[in-house]
Amino acid sequence: MSSELVSFQAYIDGEWCDAASGRRMVSVNPATEEAWCDFPDCQEEDVDRAVRAAHRAFTEGPWATTTPVERGRILKAIAAALPEHNERLARLEVSDAGKIFTESTGFQKFCADFFMFYGELADKAVGHTFSVPFPGIQSYTHRVPMGVVAAVIPWNNPLWLLSLKLGPALAAGNTIVIKTSELCSAPLLEFMKIVEELVDIPPGVVNFVTGSGEPCGRTLTSHPLVAKIAFTGGPATARRIVANSVDNLAEISLELGGKSPALVFPDADLDNAVASLMAGVFLGSAGQSCVASSRAIVHEDIFDEFLERFTSAASAIRIGDPMSTETQMGPLATEGQRARIQSAVDSAVTAGAELLIGGKAPDAPERGWFFEPTVLLCRDHSLPIVDTELFGPVITVTPFSTEAQAIALANDTKYGLAAGFFTRDLGTAMRLTRAVRAGIQYVNCYRLGAPMARIGGFGDSGKSREGGLDAIYEYTKPANVWINTAV
Ligand code: NAD
Repeated sequence: MSSELVSFQAYIDGEWCDAASGRRMVSVNPATEEAWCDFPDCQEEDVDRAVRAAHRAFTEGPWATTTPVERGRILKAIAAALPEHNERLARLEVSDAGKIFTESTGFQKFCADFFMFYGELADKAVGHTFSVPFPGIQSYTHRVPMGVVAAVIPWNNPLWLLSLKLGPALAAGNTIVIKTSELCSAPLLEFMKIVEELVDIPPGVVNFVTGSGEPCGRTLTSHPLVAKIAFTGGPATARRIVANSVDNLAEISLELGGKSPALVFPDADLDNAVASLMAGVFLGSAGQSCVASSRAIVHEDIFDEFLERFTSAASAIRIGDPMSTETQMGPLATEGQRARIQSAVDSAVTAGAELLIGGKAPDAPERGWFFEPTVLLCRDHSLPIVDTELFGPVITVTPFSTEAQAIALANDTKYGLAAGFFTRDLGTAMRLTRAVRAGIQYVNCYRLGAPMARIGGFGDSGKSREGGLDAIYEYTKPANVWINTAV
């Protein structure tokens, strides 16, 4: 079987390479359940080599003296080249992670916008000058890069999540070691092939290691030469990474999961609310999105009408071949993930949730880890499923009667990533944006993003922000300069 696999290599110190041990891992296509590619299973020594190369490139190589304008040019060149490789990269995301082709191509276009934005941002980092209480002394801050960045990427939307980290990290003058997800490495390695052919980046500035959380991710995030960890993934992994960082005291950004509420008020445009929640939790991603609108909280006056419209729209979703442009929802990423969701839904029903639609694998396609769009009526908001991130096409729906109750239910969560508010009343919308604790808030829309907007959450959704004009500051530190002008 291995002769049929497409083989990928890691990228360390400017060279494509295998793990020193020769160990390899296999990726399985979630839509066909067949192994389709393999890649190095990097161990401690491989990761150590990558971090040391990145550290050398930061301290000794020509990268240290590049200007922000030059670094900006590199990022803009990547942005300009990506569109012609859109389909090539999207096909790999489809095979590796089961993403649907139409959504994946859309995300690749999005990635180019992000790289262009960071290219433009590279020379815009500013410091401060200020007066100090000493005659003849001038004082100011300027921004300096941090050093070696360890970027740990999850499997969903890997190229976009890479752009959020690689863009500002390089713009600011850092070097980087990227650990891809064991579930979706191919698109990122292919991306590096494109970059390598396109621009001249000194060896060691950008490195890709592939492998498991243990030992590859653990070795990277605990490495003493790492200055910043940029992590996107689940809260359980985040806690392990924070523990790893006691060894290097690195700065850490954590972008984690969510169980994001969507509040639908009686004056909402219901067509818009239904369409937004469909896109938020089912269409395209099959709920495998950090901001998935997986917790609907709907006013009692429109509850029945909302449920009728929503379940009817969800039942009509076309599930199937991720490469077909007709397909609206693809498979889950792993068999284990489908089993976990099935078990959570079954337990919720036993505990009192009412299954309105879905709740099982569809009859067709026969192969692939598909799961039907699932709507669970949970009058009791304390059911465990209501605050458990499933990362699948499952939404819980709970009624409310007053605005205060809606806010209390929205905030009744350990997460705080995103929230959607559906109302035509400006005052209601503005009160909600103040009262609901979520880092990304949508009013009468959902699942939008742009390079100039901020991403991040509260609580188990993380403790930092990515994207936006401040992104470059997340990858630099201020250094304070004192100058004696009297000598
Ligand atoms: P995960 O936490 O299982 O894995 C993420 C990455 O961490 C993988 O590369 C994995 O190999 C690595 N890892 C695992 N153990 C490690 C360890 N001990 N040390 C270092 N690295 C380790 O997450 P996943 O299943 O790949 O992705 C899904 C999760 O990501 C969901 O919770 C989702 O909400 C979240 N996510 C968040 C955002 C955001 O911007 N907030 C975006 C996308 C996904």
